Amino acid sequence: MDNCLFCKIIAGDIPSTKVYEDEKVFAFRDINPQAPVHVLVVPKEHLDSANAIDESNLDSVAACFAAIPKIAAGEGLENGYRVINNCGAAAGQTVMHLHFHLIGGRELSEKIV
Ligand code: 5GP
Ligand code: ZN
Repeated sequence: MDNCLFCKIIAGDIPSTKVYEDEKVFAFRDINPQAPVHVLVVPKEHLDSANAIDESNLDSVAACFAAIPKIAAGEGLENGYRVINNCGAAAGQTVMHLHFHLIGGRELSEKIV
C-alpha cells in the first residue's frame, strides 16, 4: 500500500525497533510509549482498520493474536498486559493500518471497560 506509514515500516523503508516477525505479522516498539512495554502488533497485510476485517483476512488477524502471547512472554509480561485497538477517528486511530497496542510493564489502572 503506497503512502502507508506502517507498510513502509514493515518493508524496512522506515526504521523501527522490531520485536517480532513472522510470515504474517510484524511487531515493533511504539515511538511514543505509554508504558514501559508498548509494542504495536500489525498484520503484514494492509487493512485500514478493524472495520476492514472480514472472512477473507481472518488469517492475518488471527496471526496477530497468536503472536501476542509470544511477544508478551518475550517482554516479561507474566503478570498481565492490555491489548488495545483504536478503530476510526472517534476512537483516536491516527495510522490507518490495522494495529494492536500491546501495553504492559506497569500497573494499568485506567480501565475503560
Ligand atoms: P493509533 O493512535 O492509530 O491507535 O496508534 C498509532 C500509534 O503509532 C501511536 O501510538 C504512535 O505513537 C505510533 N507511531 C506513529 N508514528 C510512528 C512511527 O513512525 N514509528 C513508530 N514506531 N510508531 C509510530
Ligand atoms: Zn499499510
